[in-house]
Amino acid sequence: MTKILAIANQKGGVGKTTTSVNLAASLAAAERRVLLIDLDPQGNATTGSGINKGELSSTVYHVLLGSHALRDVRVSAKQGGYDVIPANRELAGAEIELVDEERREQRLREALQGLIEEYDYILIDCPPALSLLTLNGLVAAQSVMIPMQCEYYALEGLSDLVNTVKKVRANLNPVLEIEGLLRTMFDPRNALAQQVSEQLQRHFGDKVYSTVIPRNIRLAEAPSYGAPVLFYDRASKGALAYIALAGEFLQRREGVATPA
Ligand code: ATP
Ligand code: MG
Repeated sequence: MTKILAIANQKGGVGKTTTSVNLAASLAAAERRVLLIDLDPQGNATTGSGINKGELSSTVYHVLLGSHALRDVRVSAKQGGYDVIPANRELAGAEIELVDEERREQRLREALQGLIEEYDYILIDCPPALSLLTLNGLVAAQSVMIPMQCEYYALEGLSDLVNTVKKVRANLNPVLEIEGLLRTMFDPRNALAQQVSEQLQRHFGDKVYSTVIPRNIRLAEAPSYGAPVLFYDRASKGALAYIALAGEFLQRREGVATPA
């Protein structure tokens, strides 16, 4: 059964794209068939997968507007062994252009029909807003993975996101659940980070992944080489953390431990 996962947090810069790209590559390394959908006009998941945003004649924008099928805009990640539905700045217009359209929040879900069976995992990198684009991601997905930094305002933002998930479940997508919370850019020496982390575990229990993503410069450098960190510095702490996350994720999902 294909699992469709939205990677979302309306807070900017928390590691959504880094997680999308590196989890996609780590799952592909574990021989799962993976599709990564870039749903952010910033197109960072596209660039981070080694695809030149400027050279694309069609993107996820055309899919949401209904002129293209996902199959028509699909490309392969340059390295990493997964497929990508790319995005660029044009996508910013979709929000306004769809405003009077019926079923505008269902566009991605409907476009995915017929393509789902080709993959084991479909990851959707959402933009930093609870916008129509993110809504399309949440309606198309079965669950949400929430990357977050353990900072003071993180928990506040989290309750908005959890409420949005509840609303989407009540109105548009009854199967939607929280897949897991991922602590990113984590510094164990930081007392506040420890405190927020403990609060997170108290509130969300085993929804919090035991794998923690440390702050690691290699993770920040890899996108400039258009590669997941696995292909940039396989031995780095960042690469090992995302391999561990894929292992924990697969253990929960499939009940198997799969070293990448
Ligand atoms: P946006 O909300 O803008 O889409 P995002 O949530 O997708 O942002 P990223 O783009 O993944 O966040 O990360 C923000 C910045 O932090 C990037 O420059 C990225 O390279 C860097 N970064 C992400 N994770 C780590 C990490 N674990 N260690 C060091 N740098 C990181
Ligand atoms: Mg991003």
